[in-house]
Amino acid sequence: MKLYDNLIDSTMESLSDREVVRVAYDSVRAWKCLEDSEFIMQRDAGTDLGGSGNPSVNYTCVTTSGKVTEDEILICGTDIRKIEKDTAFARIVILETEDLGEDVDQEKAFQAIRNLEFVRYHVFPEGYMVRVSSQSNQEQVRISRDAIRRGIDFAKVGASYIKKYKEAGLVRHVRIIFITRKDIVEALLPNANKVDLITKTLTHILDGMPTDCGHCSMKPVCDEVEGMKELHLGKRRV
Ligand code: SF4
Repeated sequence: MKLYDNLIDSTMESLSDREVVRVAYDSVRAWKCLEDSEFIMQRDAGTDLGGSGNPSVNYTCVTTSGKVTEDEILICGTDIRKIEKDTAFARIVILETEDLGEDVDQEKAFQAIRNLEFVRYHVFPEGYMVRVSSQSNQEQVRISRDAIRRGIDFAKVGASYIKKYKEAGLVRHVRIIFITRKDIVEALLPNANKVDLITKTLTHILDGMPTDCGHCSMKPVCDEVEGMKELHLGKRRV
């Protein structure tokens, strides 16, 4: 699975000359999660991430190219307990998985990717309310004052997410990246749109669209994304 590899490279490139804190995953450090989402009222909020007009980015990339070799959390920008006002926010997940078998069964591989994308909707860290946006590539979070007082931080929340991803099967390693620097969040917005386009193209392919690239509205995506044409047309026809 190489479809997201360029986006993974571009994401890491955007962090290459920035100060990034790396924390190795330790399941014991995971922040307590609830069974379901909770509602945090504004009067109980300690901080809002990605809201109040601040940019927000969220996307998930799947790869089998050996780009993630350990479970880890990367943090770029101010961590939760030091945030003093509402801020920009990005949470990006890169999943190194087992072979998804897309050469044999595209539908099964695509379903596996969707299932992994949906994991994000089943993680409910206590005192950390994720607000669903109409645009899937955004994520807004409200964190309660009580959670901040009890020591919540991105490393602990990240560990909660990684724990859930590793329960989903197929996942070898997870890199989860939290960013609160506005300039980087804004720079990553196009990547989120490209992930959406890849998902839309995969959906169209599975809907049985014709294999005529010359008359296909998805051509700009397939020209740019390595492996997309092979996925649709098979290796010999590309
Ligand atoms: S491979 Fe060609 S026909 Fe298939 S989705 Fe891409 S551009 Fe369209």
